Parts: sequence; C-alpha cells; structure tokens
Amino acid sequence: PKRVLSGIQPTGRPHWGNYFGAIRQYIQLQDENDGFYFIADLHALTSVRDAAQLRQNVMDIALDLLALGLDPKQATLFVQSHVPEVSELCWILLSGTPMGLLQRCVAYKEKVDKGIPADAGLFTYPVLQAADILAYDSQLVPVGADQVQHIEVCRDIAGRFNHQYGETFVMPKANVLDDSAKVPGTDGEKMSKSYDNTLPLFGEVKPIRKQIMRITTDSRPMEEPKEPAGHHLFQLYSLFADSGQRDEMAAMYRRGGFGYGEVKKAIAEASEAYFADARARRVDLEKNLDYVGEVLQAGAERARSVAAEVLLRAQQASGLK
Ligand code: ATP
Ligand code: MG
Repeated sequence: PKRVLSGIQPTGRPHWGNYFGAIRQYIQLQDENDGFYFIADLHALTSVRDAAQLRQNVMDIALDLLALGLDPKQATLFVQSHVPEVSELCWILLSGTPMGLLQRCVAYKEKVDKGIPADAGLFTYPVLQAADILAYDSQLVPVGADQVQHIEVCRDIAGRFNHQYGETFVMPKANVLDDSAKVPGTDGEKMSKSYDNTLPLFGEVKPIRKQIMRITTDSRPMEEPKEPAGHHLFQLYSLFADSGQRDEMAAMYRRGGFGYGEVKKAIAEASEAYFADARARRVDLEKNLDYVGEVLQAGAERARSVAAEVLLRAQQASGLK
C-alpha cells in the first residue's frame, strides 16, 4: 500500500473535471492504499474572500466527497488548515525555493492572463502545495494534467532540501489518468471553477441540462462527417459511456448527418444516470452534518500525527530544533 495524497479547493461546486481527473482516482485508490484527501481551504483564501461562503464551501465539498464514495474508514479526509504543521513546513520550504521556479508555473500565468488578480498567495501556492504533499510522506498524488507541473515543483523543492540538509522528504509521483486528464468545459477550454465554464456534479437536473445544451459548438453542417477524436462533445460523452456506446457515437460522427443537439442530449442523459446514486446519498448525508463534522475531526487528528513527525524531521535537519 502506498501513501496517496490529493486535495481539492473549496472554491466552488466540484465539476466533471474534478471528478474524472481526480476524485474518481481517490475512490479507486482508497481500498488498497493509505489515502489522505484534504479540502484545501488555505489555497482557497486567494479566491474566496467571504468567510461564511468559505465555511459553506468546505462543508459542501466534504458532503460531495462522501456522497461520491470516499470512505472515511478506508481513507483519511480532513481540512487543510486543521493541520497547522503544514503552514510551518511551508515557510521552511519557501526559504529554499528560487523565484524562477515559481515564475515558470503556467497555472499562475494562466490565471493572471485571464485577469484574475494575483496576490503573493497565488504566486507561492505551489510551495504550500509542496508542503501539503511532503508533510505526509506522500508517494502518489492523483491529479489532473493541470497539476503535473506543480508536482514537479514539489519534487524540485524536496530534492533541494534533501541535497542541502540530508535525506528528509519522500519523493512523490503524480498519478494522471490519460483519458480524463483534461476535461473540457462548456466553452471547450479546460473545465475550471474559476473559468465559469463548469458542469457541476450536484444540483438541480434542469439547469444543468440547460448548461449542457448551451455548450459551445462550431457551425459545420449536419451532413458533414466529423472526426470524433479530440472533439469536446465526444470527449464529454466518453466520460460516461462504456466502450460499446463510445464506438457507436464515434461511428455516428464519422457518418455525419447528426446535430450536436443529439450528442448533448446523450451527454445529459448519461451524466444524470451516472451521478444519480451519489446525488441520493448526498441528500441523506445533508441530514447528518454532525457525522460529517466527526469525520473531519478524526481525519485532522490522524493527519496531524503524521505531519508533526515530518515537520520535526525538517526542523531538526535545518537546525530549527
Ligand atoms: P480552480 O479554478 O479554483 O483552480 P479547479 O476547477 O481547477 O479550481 P481544483 O480544486 O484546483 O479545481 O482541482 C482539484 C483537482 O481536480 C486537481 O487534481 C485538478 O488537477 C483536477 N482538475 C481540475 N480541473 C480539471 C479538468 N478540467 N480535467 C481534469 N482534472 C481537473
Ligand atoms: Mg485548479
């Protein structure tokens, strides 16, 4: 069994990209590994400025993860800020991180290019993320493709520290699923909570259906045969389809003579069926918020006990203790 770690930001409602890129892997990996999954509220501070909203988002994501099948008997679920050791470790790591390493990070550059105002927290967030990963001696980090560069940054930071002070941190590896590493959003770009192009996992079926019907498409004529590979609607449909259904849809693309509306309807139906059980479980969990609170508290205790040991190792290595 491996120590698997991953986090999700409470910056809004989780979407298909979060599920197929990351959350699905959390659940697949939890049986045979030691999973540590956290709600990244410290990371969210750079974009959620409303206290009540942040608290609500944290609770919502906890409910979502449990409803989707994350099992607190198998995995450790906790809130990032409940483990203050991580913030202490972050400072130690920041002091050994070259500016250039962070300046090269594309996620930061992309957000700035989109006009999202940047603060020092956003710029240095790969270092906090490195602290998240290293604090638990994580070996495997299941993420979407957008996070691969940050895992490299983490390895770089850990390598520098180990080189400077002696073997202290475990080297983590990213775990990316090829077929869902970058789920497209309603505008055809990477689906992202901060790009306003998401299709949510939970919520009323009708408005979600409307959003699906509004996904951007080109205006090629219906008769024209089309190549399915790389087409965003085909990619979205494939998330929910078995291989037979996918082949059928691919054949329809190649034949031509269909409207994109048909594909969208198929996506809507397949996604509703796919998430129906999780939605029902969420309704039940909402009636038992005390249970969710207990899960998070037990998770934080377990996580702290691991992080405290690793922090001590880093403090001793660097001369703070
Ligand atoms: P934000 O815009 O606030 O950064 P986000 O939508 O990118 O939000 P995160 O909480 O940053 O979501 O990411 C949680 C996990 O979901 C990460 O492992 C990330 O790699 C993965 N992920 C996010 N978007 C996608 C996507 N479109 N396809 C595949 N995986 C994704
Ligand atoms: Mg993100």
